[in-house]
Amino acid sequence: MEDIKPLLLGGGRVLKGAGCIRKIGKEASRFAKRVLCVAGDTSWALVKDNLKYSFDAANIEMVRYRFTGYCTEKTTDEIASVVKREHTALVIGIGGGKGLDAAKLGAMKAHTRVLTVPTSAATCAAYAPLSVLYDEKGAAMGPVFLRDEMAGVIIDTEIISRSPVRYLKAGIADAMAKEGEMYFSLSHMTEAEKMNLPSLGLHLAQMNNCKYLSTHPDDPEAVSDLIYTNIVMTGLVSCYAMGSKQLAVAHAFYDAFTHCYRTQRDTFLHGEIIACAIGVQLRVNGYDQKEIEKIADFFISLDLPVTLADLNIPLDRESIDLLISKIWEIAGIEDPLIRKRISDGVFTVRGQVD
Ligand SMILES: [Zn+2]
Repeated sequence: MEDIKPLLLGGGRVLKGAGCIRKIGKEASRFAKRVLCVAGDTSWALVKDNLKYSFDAANIEMVRYRFTGYCTEKTTDEIASVVKREHTALVIGIGGGKGLDAAKLGAMKAHTRVLTVPTSAATCAAYAPLSVLYDEKGAAMGPVFLRDEMAGVIIDTEIISRSPVRYLKAGIADAMAKEGEMYFSLSHMTEAEKMNLPSLGLHLAQMNNCKYLSTHPDDPEAVSDLIYTNIVMTGLVSCYAMGSKQLAVAHAFYDAFTHCYRTQRDTFLHGEIIACAIGVQLRVNGYDQKEIEKIADFFISLDLPVTLADLNIPLDRESIDLLISKIWEIAGIEDPLIRKRISDGVFTVRGQVD
């Protein structure tokens, strides 16, 4: 029989607005009377008073798992075992991408649903039904696709607005990678595979990019809409892309970067490394130079890195070759023409060499 995968497109009940965290008790009570909150210390401090108030009002007991580090097999196993030990029927992930990914995967391992509360808009992790797994040292091991959609997503714009604007900008770059990546994936699909969802994903990604290019995150009027686009509209593109070939170069660049340059990886946000990687993806796609420059200029206006020099990595030939071969390996690309385009793209974004 054909391998039939479920179609996961939604984020459950998505609530968005200033102060909507206070509705969490009511939302959670649809699933459980006892919940496990997965949160790092910074995120926990932002939400704990409102959580307690809202859970008390809804008669919900809560237990907390203190998240640190990365979304690893070990951490997600631990989350799953706490779910079982504490008899909690819902996991609530609170935080940025890594913490939310850990909560999502931990919940899947424990066969419970997960509700997410993003504290920044730096990725679409709160919405997308996949988790990126890392090893203990922080090297990306690739995505794990989840069995279910989120039980709900609570996007409290008041909480997210308190995170540094750098996070919102990184989320914009991460979101803007989707267009080039979808284009690349589609160009490697059969006509039948291109139909419907992947094509719709490309259209949506193009629409999102138009919005980003015409808005500036320093405009307070636009912030709420940008948060929504970074999380929901981009998460939706990820859903549409799911099941299509995962051939994207920009994220393979990111994964390779985390393997080769762990120190630098810890000083930059995921989306910031992706901003530089987009330059490679668009060159591999064969986009017009003007279009590539337009995106790069936009990223520069947002103080995002666009060269390897900006990312503070060694720029000698040997180091760059190592990065390139890791990208080839992670993207699983054998085609010599695409390999060459990746190599040329990486050398083009190298930046200043003394
Ligand atoms: Zn990403």
